[in-house]
Amino acid sequence: MRRLNIRWRLTLWFGAAMILLLLIRSFWIYFIMDWRTTLHTDSQLNLDISAISTQLRTADDRSQLVQALNQYVMRHAAAEVKVKGPDNSVIFSYAPGQDVRSPSSTKEPQGHEKWAHFTTETPNGRRRAVSGQVPSSIGNLSIELSLSTQDRRDEVLSFALTLFTTLPFVFAAALGVGYFVSSRALTPVDKMISDAQRITGLQLNQRIAVPESRDELARLARTLNEMINRLHQSFEDMRRFTADAAHDLRTPVTALRTAVEVSLMADHTTEEYQASLHTILDEAIHLSQLTSQLLDLSREDHGAKSGVSEPVRLDELIAIATADLQLAAQKKGIAVETVQMPPLLVSGDPIRLRRVFMNLLDNALQYTPCGGNVQIKGGPLGDGALITIIDNGPGIPEDELPHIFDRFRRVDKSRTRQGGGTGLGLAICKAIVEAHGGRIHMDSAIGYGTRVSVELPGYQADASKELPSDND
Ligand code: ATP
Ligand code: MG
Repeated sequence: MRRLNIRWRLTLWFGAAMILLLLIRSFWIYFIMDWRTTLHTDSQLNLDISAISTQLRTADDRSQLVQALNQYVMRHAAAEVKVKGPDNSVIFSYAPGQDVRSPSSTKEPQGHEKWAHFTTETPNGRRRAVSGQVPSSIGNLSIELSLSTQDRRDEVLSFALTLFTTLPFVFAAALGVGYFVSSRALTPVDKMISDAQRITGLQLNQRIAVPESRDELARLARTLNEMINRLHQSFEDMRRFTADAAHDLRTPVTALRTAVEVSLMADHTTEEYQASLHTILDEAIHLSQLTSQLLDLSREDHGAKSGVSEPVRLDELIAIATADLQLAAQKKGIAVETVQMPPLLVSGDPIRLRRVFMNLLDNALQYTPCGGNVQIKGGPLGDGALITIIDNGPGIPEDELPHIFDRFRRVDKSRTRQGGGTGLGLAICKAIVEAHGGRIHMDSAIGYGTRVSVELPGYQADASKELPSDND
């Protein structure tokens, strides 16, 4: 059954359900008709036996009794009558066929009702009988009266047979109707399959036609289209990322090649060779930065979420990052001060979190002009922590802010390139912070400076009451 397609499975289920229902209905009709025949015959027998017993009660002697019974059987030739006297001798007996009651199929009269009804099987078919005691002038008479129910039974049986013999035709018709209905219902699915087969990685701008109905299939088509939208977006992001990466890799490689070619073209002075080697070194450093950043991003993309998660003292981690960058800050004459930083415990990977704050502080130092200042503030936010890094650098234009966390996004490409920027630092920060369940946000005003806020969820274990210290 599982190998069949849905269309045939539905058809067979429909056919089988129809057959089952018809069988139940046929049996139901048969039993109801049989029961009604018995009920009808019983009420006829009640009427007859009441009439006979009235005549028997009023008869003066035995001959009048027999006469009354004879009159009855003349009017009811199909009836079988047997009357016994008080001494159990048969006073009157009339039978269209000889009674050979089969004990197994005969229901004996039950209870102490006035008239007891039962069924007998005779060679001429089934009979329904009634028996009882009637007082008469010659004493108590036992009377038994029966009518044939065979004709009605034959009718019921032939009706039931007709119902059963039509079952194969009904089954065939049910299969036909089932196949037609399921085909109609599944036509939109066929259409969706052929639409989906047309869509490849190169044609993700195509969509599945949504059926006009407002049913589950229309919902399925819409859901698939939403999924294709998301895939399309991811494909586009990946394509752009690859193109940007290729472009950014090509620039330093070209610069390297040019520097080497120029050096080899003619003899140069030692100073000229040194200058060339410096250029080569700069480009090599840039290339190595770029490749390691690409690697970081690719790690974040491939679920670094499931990486290390341990209690991290954020205040201590930031203090170390600030100390590491102090020399660069001093060189530029930039004052880096931590204005507020209570102990803060978050949960995460200390190496990746350190990379976030190193990148952000590096940006603040890199883009803030000499003599500027950078402030670092930290404080609790709900269960977690909020860290803000504020500089009084050139700021970022308003239209750039929404895209500032995109990969390879640089505001001033020439300026950044000189400083060795690849435009991946903030994208890496965002990926790491979000993988930790946090948020990163940037505000800026041209000419005033930039503020980056990082929210991180806190460490949830009881250990948070006693903050661990790196000095411990
Ligand atoms: P790298 O990948 O080496 O960090 P990058 O610094 O150019 O290169 P991002 O850190 O992602 O890349 O920053 C993207 C851009 O945002 C930068 O090129 C710069 O134009 C702008 N930017 C980032 N931080 C600041 C800041 N504090 N002040 C002014 N501009 C900033
Ligand atoms: Mg940067």
